[in-house]
Amino acid sequence: MNLLQMIETGAAENGFSVTGEQAERLAQYSSAVLELNNKINLTAIRDEKDFIERNILDSLMIAADIPGSGASIADVGTGGGFPGIPLAVCLPEDSFVLIDSTRKKLDAVEEAAKPLGLENVCYLNGRAEELGREGEWREHFDCVVSRAVASLRVLTELCLPLVKPGGKMIAMKSARYEEEIDEAKEAVEQLGGRISDVQKRYLLHSDMLHVIITIEKIRKTPQKLPRSFGQIKKKPL
Ligand code: SAH
Repeated sequence: MNLLQMIETGAAENGFSVTGEQAERLAQYSSAVLELNNKINLTAIRDEKDFIERNILDSLMIAADIPGSGASIADVGTGGGFPGIPLAVCLPEDSFVLIDSTRKKLDAVEEAAKPLGLENVCYLNGRAEELGREGEWREHFDCVVSRAVASLRVLTELCLPLVKPGGKMIAMKSARYEEEIDEAKEAVEQLGGRISDVQKRYLLHSDMLHVIITIEKIRKTPQKLPRSFGQIKKKPL
């Protein structure tokens, strides 16, 4: 199977269809990131097929869970652009803000994505908990997604303040999810959320468990939250 077929089949197996053109752009982004990875560490994965499976297809696992046409989405801690870039390629009607606290990584993602000509992506350098505290980004997004950034308890304080009441956050997790959910319950409640869905999925016949946790925002986040990262780390909610 070539890379394009792998992308199309893999996405379809997970209930989401990508067009030939989207598959080509995703393959193009993969080569660009692997190339840039020689200069800046964007991913630990070096092999192209592994990259497609563990970064591209993995990101698309939540494509069907995004609210759809015209939604505004943030990817908190996008790193090498995951899940934000694959989602932006496949959901062209939605607009994406890719957030990361490391400017060098965001610049690299922007450079790798440039040839794709994505008109629905912008890049925002900053810490999620600072962007969520006040001003334009607080309670701005219909949906905030995040993969591999922090434990659910901490992640909720980073992400939920950015979500509009009525919107949701989607956390991509793995095997330890039950413990993470238990630890996060208090934080979810205090930040105005409610865990509304926990889905277990497997990617491409692999036995690695992926858990997609959806937290709906049912109330506004109290003004005193989020706190500084120092406090979040030292004394999680
Ligand atoms: N989501 C990507 C990257 C994970 S690495 C993936 O799944 O491959 C975690 C990334 O989160 C790093 O790039 C780091 O700079 C960023 N990050 C960590 N804490 C953050 C915060 N509070 N606000 C914004 N970005 C953060």
